[in-house]
Amino acid sequence: MLAAMNTNARAVRLSIGGMSCAGCVATVEKTLKTVPGVSEAAVNFAEHTASVSGTADARALIGAVVAAGYEAAELKSRAAEDEKVAAEAAYYRSLQRKTLVAGIVAAPLFVGEMFMLLPALHSPGGRLYGLIAGLATLFVLVYAGGHFFRGAWKSFRNHNANMDTLIALGTGAAWVYSMAVVAAPQLVPTLAQHAYFEAAAVIIALINLGQLLEIRARGKTSQAIKRLIGLQPRTARVLRDGKELDIPIEEVGLSETVRVRPGEKIPVDGVVLEGRSNVDESMLTGEPLPVVKKTGDSVTGGTLNTTGSFLFRTTRIGEETALARIIEMVRRAQNSKPAIGRLADKISALFVPSVLIIAVVTFLVWFNIGPVPVIGFALVATMTVLVIACPCALGLATPISIIVGVGKAAESGILIRNGEALQQASRLTTVVLDKTGTVTEGHPAVVGIFPAAGWTEEEVLRIAASIEAGSEHPLAQAVVQAATARSLMLAPASGFDAVSGFGVRAQVEGKHLLLGNPRLMEISGVDIGALYNHAHTAALLGQTPIYLAVNGRAAGIVAIADPIKSDSQAAIARLHALGLKVVMLTGDNAATAQAVAGQVGIDEVLAEVLPADKAAKVTELQARGEIVGMVGDGINDAPALAQANVGFAIGTGTDIAIESADVALMRGSLHGVADAIAISSATVRNIQQNLFGAFFYNILGIPIAAGALYPLFGLLLNPMIAGAAMAMSSVTVVSNANRLRFIKSGEL
Ligand code: ADP
Ligand code: MG
Repeated sequence: MLAAMNTNARAVRLSIGGMSCAGCVATVEKTLKTVPGVSEAAVNFAEHTASVSGTADARALIGAVVAAGYEAAELKSRAAEDEKVAAEAAYYRSLQRKTLVAGIVAAPLFVGEMFMLLPALHSPGGRLYGLIAGLATLFVLVYAGGHFFRGAWKSFRNHNANMDTLIALGTGAAWVYSMAVVAAPQLVPTLAQHAYFEAAAVIIALINLGQLLEIRARGKTSQAIKRLIGLQPRTARVLRDGKELDIPIEEVGLSETVRVRPGEKIPVDGVVLEGRSNVDESMLTGEPLPVVKKTGDSVTGGTLNTTGSFLFRTTRIGEETALARIIEMVRRAQNSKPAIGRLADKISALFVPSVLIIAVVTFLVWFNIGPVPVIGFALVATMTVLVIACPCALGLATPISIIVGVGKAAESGILIRNGEALQQASRLTTVVLDKTGTVTEGHPAVVGIFPAAGWTEEEVLRIAASIEAGSEHPLAQAVVQAATARSLMLAPASGFDAVSGFGVRAQVEGKHLLLGNPRLMEISGVDIGALYNHAHTAALLGQTPIYLAVNGRAAGIVAIADPIKSDSQAAIARLHALGLKVVMLTGDNAATAQAVAGQVGIDEVLAEVLPADKAAKVTELQARGEIVGMVGDGINDAPALAQANVGFAIGTGTDIAIESADVALMRGSLHGVADAIAISSATVRNIQQNLFGAFFYNILGIPIAAGALYPLFGLLLNPMIAGAAMAMSSVTVVSNANRLRFIKSGEL
């Protein structure tokens, strides 16, 4: 299953350049989807990347994106990633220079205009001044605003329009008009003889500044993934032909012997051959205590060795290591969009054309029924509409919060599969917990043996263990361990038959044996007689009693206890505080289950459920209108995990099929479930705030910019204020998303 998931998981990741605004997301996605062989394409505006699944090769995809007027490169190797980071840094620096230059030129124009220090156009020297201001502004437009004009031209040639179009039109029109007034003032009425150079220059400066702030804030949002990538060591010390060599991590093969010295990072995944140490795995699992590693234990690449030293044999390298798969999963999750985000993208795509129409209408209305100077008012209002209306905030709202939320979860060892799982997790009403391994440690141990008349403890345990040697059930392992601890010699069993949810049947030393729960005895017609009292006492303590029958007669009971995890009770209290109902689901007997449930504060117990019926129980809860999160370790509860609205795989460490659960919790603690739900809810709330803010901004901003308040209050927005508002809108969204980084797990 794992291998299959890995092959179809291969997605091409592209770095996309030239996407100036959220409106471009839909264009690029559409372009990618038309390439033959593409099954799914998702563009992440916040990261400027696209992930494409299907059979199309990277070159075809890049070609299509370039033909549509954008830039693209494949992000495959670490070098390509580094290159993207370097290119972004270079872009940031150039934007910084442009903003500074635009600011320096715009400031005196702006101050002069504001305090009316400048000569009027028709006064002596006025035209000379106008010419100088015009040329200075032209320089700003070309040097600091050139990318808007180039972007607008590119998308025009592709029969498209985007944010660049709006800004280029707004500032370009202001400059052309002003220049015309300077060149030939007699063409316009005296009242309209006014130049708007400072507006054009200030708008360019402000929008650049906004993008600068946005990039800065965005850098912080992807810290989680950068931190994960940073965990990958670059070299490893391998033993080849008796020599120790330091080699690049890419050259480490499978089944090589690697030495890890104190304080070093473990380079790839493997199994300890010799030595012993404590390893800090907190960076992956969120579990603060170092874990003991001795011969035979598995170690994970990217984790940190503390004081000991050891040799290990590599078992997984390259893309197959747990760390690489975690990075891949977080990345894909960050790129995915819940339904709410797709809607926002659709709206963004319609946005720019709508604004262009509104701008034309605005111009016509002012021109035809506006006050004198008609042309001046019409120009200002149109320019303001063009500049204020940008769908950037709308397009950023969802992905930016998902990136922060999913990243935040990953830092606590919680892997959320995608945006949809996150949205579902925020809506849960009931959490179903599997008992064994979820509420309890999942490491049961024999705590008592009660022989029937004529039997001894040793004999009951020896025979029970002889059968269980063939079973993989955790209870079976407990029995075998107890027998081994007493150095009992096990007998070979034949005709072994596991009765799922009941126990096992087999023949040992020529006798027919049954081992399992009371129902197994019942259906096999075994009278449990006096043993019942012992079994009941054990069950009331939360232990699982197992009956042994030999040739159809009860021979004894083995009582097995699986300790409850120390923090289960506290975590369940947190789930209650989040308003969730907590149900326990188990195949164990009702009295045992009730005892455990009582100790941890569970609301409802569904006991003696056969493994095959666990999913049906989830369906029943769903039929009652509950939105169900199912938490299990994936051992005999996989169908229930799949049936639930959100399946949480718990305590899986770094060894599991991470990709198969909606939410994978690398720590064994139930706190992870509460954290995952709390982070999901906070993220969804954050998205809603962002979307609300973005809509509100545009719904309010566009009419005001168009002059809706003028007839009533004589208020017309200054285009420079529009520039500032537009610059701040996306900065606000990104900053709001960044607040998610400061959620403390365990405290929501
Ligand atoms: P769980 O929900 O705890 O995973 P299962 O469905 O696997 O439980 O098992 C249910 C019950 O069946 C156990 O509590 C035990 O009484 C009995 N049982 C199942 N397998 C075995 C076995 N190999 N040995 C003894 N008892 C077993
Ligand atoms: Mg189980």
